[in-house]
Amino acid sequence: MRRKLVVGNWKMNGSRVANADLLAELKAAGPWNADVAVCVPFPYIGEVALSLQGEAIAWGAQDCSAHASGAYTGEVAVPMLAEFGCRYVIVGHSERRALHGESDQIVAEKARIALAHKLVPIVCVGETLAEREGEQTDAVVKRQLSAVIHTLGHCISQVVVAYEPVWAIGTGRTATPDQAQAVHALLRKQLKAATERADDMKILYGGSVKADNAAQLFAEADIDGGLIGGASLKAADFAAVCRAAS
Ligand code: PEP
Repeated sequence: MRRKLVVGNWKMNGSRVANADLLAELKAAGPWNADVAVCVPFPYIGEVALSLQGEAIAWGAQDCSAHASGAYTGEVAVPMLAEFGCRYVIVGHSERRALHGESDQIVAEKARIALAHKLVPIVCVGETLAEREGEQTDAVVKRQLSAVIHTLGHCISQVVVAYEPVWAIGTGRTATPDQAQAVHALLRKQLKAATERADDMKILYGGSVKADNAAQLFAEADIDGGLIGGASLKAADFAAVCRAAS
């Protein structure tokens, strides 16, 4: 059986004081019988790493450059994240795809460089509301995942996939467990065609996951945990989601 993974995505939220309080409460609330991580804004990674050293909570970043170093003003390279002990990096979040024009291929390159430096990329895929209503969900998520499979080859088995329907992110509108499971099963089938290890891979669900809907979602056969935005900003809420995964 796959161990569940719950990852908090703080997005562009937090402050040094607020982060210290949040992490202190989280450390007191755990440990859980699940893998847990927080993906935090770049400037806080060093401090978060110090705070979580030796704890059962891993940490990571929300994006990375597709390049290892060089003249890319404003970008952050994966080797820099590795220096600070990041285990995970989110790539292809829908906010990056929509607001920063990240293509499927750029997302795949980011996943490749993350793996090259021993970070686990959390590859986000998901359809917009218009795409769902146009019955394009399957085609969209398959296209997004296919770019990563094509670029990584058999190394695809080392990534975590996150299905995040764009219409459910930060909206309070969650996919039903059936809707989410259907897409997760489709993604696992696609992974099975690419690697013998697809049954060991984690596919997370993200999109308005909270304490009161997490257990139902996590009970689905192909849902291996969650990528949690809003509910990761309050320790009690995030701890409740982690408990639901335990
Ligand atoms: C996210 O940003 O990845 C996310 C799932 O956000 P929320 O939980 O707030 O919908």
